Amino acid sequence: MVSLLASGAASSAGTTAWVALAYLAAGVLFILALRGLSSPETSRAGNRFGMIGMLIAVVTTLVTHSIASIYEILIAVAIGGLIGFTIARRIAMTAMPELVAAFHSLVGLAAVLVGWAAFLEPGAFGLLVGDTIGQVSRVEMALGVAIGAITFSGSVIAFAKLSGRMSGSPILLPMRHVINLGTLVAIIVLTALFTMGEIASQDYFIAITVLAFLVGFLLIIPIGGADMPVVVSMLNSYSGWAAAAMGFTLGNSAMIITGALVGASGAILSYIMCKAMNRSFISVIAGGFGADDSGGGDGEPREQRPYKQGSAADAAFMLEQAEKVIIIPGYGMAVAQAQHALREMCDLLEEKGVEVKFAIHPVAGRMPGHMNVLLAEASVDYDKVFELEDINSEFAQADVAFIIGANDVVNPAAKTDKSSPIYGMPVFDVDKAKQVFFIKRSMGGVGYAGVDNDVFYMDQTMMLLSDAKKMVEEIVKGLD
Ligand code: NDP
Repeated sequence: MVSLLASGAASSAGTTAWVALAYLAAGVLFILALRGLSSPETSRAGNRFGMIGMLIAVVTTLVTHSIASIYEILIAVAIGGLIGFTIARRIAMTAMPELVAAFHSLVGLAAVLVGWAAFLEPGAFGLLVGDTIGQVSRVEMALGVAIGAITFSGSVIAFAKLSGRMSGSPILLPMRHVINLGTLVAIIVLTALFTMGEIASQDYFIAITVLAFLVGFLLIIPIGGADMPVVVSMLNSYSGWAAAAMGFTLGNSAMIITGALVGASGAILSYIMCKAMNRSFISVIAGGFGADDSGGGDGEPREQRPYKQGSAADAAFMLEQAEKVIIIPGYGMAVAQAQHALREMCDLLEEKGVEVKFAIHPVAGRMPGHMNVLLAEASVDYDKVFELEDINSEFAQADVAFIIGANDVVNPAAKTDKSSPIYGMPVFDVDKAKQVFFIKRSMGGVGYAGVDNDVFYMDQTMMLLSDAKKMVEEIVKGLD
């Protein structure tokens, strides 16, 4: 294991100019990939750039390896590849966020293992100055292990919350901010002691690792409900920084560049999502700062209130009469895979002269860009797809707000109920539309945040209780 991990360091020792050039080319391709991925039109090209960059980086590393045997490396790649392939084939699209969280935890764990391997065999990594580990290397190792351990335990908790193995509600320990801050300060002090000591002390290194595992756990357990999307992108950022730290230990420039790109882009995405959600960036990364435990939460009994239920035929009839329809897709559309039927419905309505637009909330679904990906898959024109801030004022002119599998992103409690876990999150003003159609399977089901929704009971709301795909297919039949 140690020799395998050390191969990067050894190969870097003999780094030739062309290796550096190849890594630089890979780095440029990764930047082009990120640029391409910033828009649906260029995302395929972006993906291609990323794949070519990764191929160059992997091939360059393989041909310049010098310690581990190529067979060991290929066996490890084959085992990892097979596991990844099997998981990717089996995973439901709706379980992607928890899969991403699980994969982030592996990056964190890898950083911890690389750090420990380097600590135990510093000679193999070229880190010895005299007969002890150099001070700069000690800082790199301590940082790598600390960020990696935080990423690992934080991602494990995020995985447990997203997959429902643990309650999604915030778990708020008393004095948590003092505990978090105290633990972080302890890690910094221990890193300083570890770096400045005459020899690299194993006790300090163990303490840094254990405390960092604890911080990851403490930072994520108080985050719940509407803040989970930010956590996913924040852990993505952490995993990037962990990889960059690994790159320093291994002396591998491609890893430093890639890690820094992932770290920086994840941090920017987290910031953008915080702004879109009306949350403070610092509060979220500080671990549920400002959260309190008064929120609704999962599985609360819902009061019985009157609501109107309609059929697909009713909906088709009213949609045909409308001039303007705004469709709000959410997680349920993804579960039902209703995007193709929805596009068909949209085409039929447009043929009948109805203006149709799609409204996408920044946290709709279970991962950033979830709805955009599904609509693109169904070939919905990008110019019909609008972000929250660009379309929210148009609900007042809409005849129908067509909510399909969305719930939290249209819940007015986010504007009015201070005790709600989604309070403060901007939501679509669907109540301003003349008619609201709300597709979900039953009145009992709730959204991710687990709270009731007043939109169900509004005068102008018609509940269409069914699987989203089935309901839209029936509406399409009604429109034909
Ligand atoms: P919600 O999770 O709020 O609601 C989903 C709705 O879909 C429910 O009303 C559910 O009701 C319905 N539904 C589920 N399956 C079906 C089906 N087969 N057919 C029809 N309806 C169905 O979704 P939103 O998209 O509105 O909100 C996203 C939430 O997820 C936010 O709270 C966000 O913070 C959170 N989140 C987002 C992430 C992201 O990155 N985007 C990541 C993690 C969390 P019923 O069961 O009755 O059918």
